[in-house]
Amino acid sequence: MPHSKPSGRHFLQIPGPSNVPDRILRAMDFPTIDHRGPEFAELGKKCLSGLQEVFKTRAHVIIYPASGTGAWEAALVNTLSAGDTVLMIETGHFASLWYKLAARLGVHTELLKTDWRRGADPQAIEARLAADKEGKIKAVCVVHNETSTGAMSRISDIRAAIDAAQHDALLMVDTISSLGSSDYCHDAWGVDVTVAGSQKGLMLPPGLSFNAVSEKARQAAKNADLPRSYWDWEDQLAANSSGAFPYTPATNLLYGLSEAIDMLLEEGLENVFARHKRHAQATRIAVQAWGLEVLCQEPLDFSNTLTAVLLPDGHNADAFRSTVLKNFNMSLGNGLSHLAGKVFRIGHLGDFNDLMMIGTLGGVEMGLALSDVPHQSGGTDAAMQFLKNNLT
Ligand SMILES: *Cc1c(COP(=O)(O)O)cnc(C)c1O
Repeated sequence: MPHSKPSGRHFLQIPGPSNVPDRILRAMDFPTIDHRGPEFAELGKKCLSGLQEVFKTRAHVIIYPASGTGAWEAALVNTLSAGDTVLMIETGHFASLWYKLAARLGVHTELLKTDWRRGADPQAIEARLAADKEGKIKAVCVVHNETSTGAMSRISDIRAAIDAAQHDALLMVDTISSLGSSDYCHDAWGVDVTVAGSQKGLMLPPGLSFNAVSEKARQAAKNADLPRSYWDWEDQLAANSSGAFPYTPATNLLYGLSEAIDMLLEEGLENVFARHKRHAQATRIAVQAWGLEVLCQEPLDFSNTLTAVLLPDGHNADAFRSTVLKNFNMSLGNGLSHLAGKVFRIGHLGDFNDLMMIGTLGGVEMGLALSDVPHQSGGTDAAMQFLKNNLT
């Protein structure tokens, strides 16, 4: 940290945690209340029903006082038994972490690999499921928006692939970095468990995570024998019916969640999605004009919430990122596991607008020049032209 605090706002342009808007900060700045008192139930009910709109579901959404990783574990321990097989699609770092977590829980994990430059391949999933004649695979786990690579998987196509293989596996989807910023339909896409978190598209601080649970997943939970206690869905559901929680909820984060739901619905979810799509496009236009490479190679899979950018060989992305932080007070995302040092990630999600976009790209462009990364100037300018010519 610099010895004196830099003036102005820090640019937190990592792909989550995202910038927490003042309106949410203010909504949380109240005394914590009795979570078993009369005032609380209204807040609990409002959060639970508002989340259904955001997940586009009539199914129950469970709220945990935990990071996203907790909701990953909850999805698995509620539905699976020791020795069950789960098919996981290795789209990048976060998919591999979910895979490792599953393996530790004692389920048999099978991995469909990718080159980390695209989303999951529905045809490969269909072929693998069609070959599973005995129905050993109990769940297919996919990360919707792979935050380490900037590739988004097409969940409705994956649902169609599972159906085409006439396979009964549950479909579980991690939307931690897409919910509330990219279109997502828990019901219409036939998802059984959706996993989400508070600190990315929902614009909240870290600390809450979610499971949206289909009727089929709830039935599966009745026979699942992995040990579970803190994560048990039925305990949550029983308490939630009266707007309460089985243990102390993160009350002040729920104040924030209530406000975040209001903000998303006031702007209109479809407008929120269009805004993110437009900023993602502006970012790719800048990257292209700089002559650099976007990591994701499949245009159908481009992420709306972040862009991972490859640096030319011999140039270290972490050195570049520290130059940007030191000189311009902006945090960019790092490369994770085998992408370390090779890519940087621009987060363009959450509470974000055109001038924040241009400030972000301007910081990247100046950083590229200061770090002697070979590039053409003018990326920020190209993004400005695009934004000005495509007003919403
Ligand atoms: C951030 C993220 C996670 C991890 O969530 P935590 O809140 O850090 O536990 C998992 N999956 C994806 C896709 C993410 O973006």
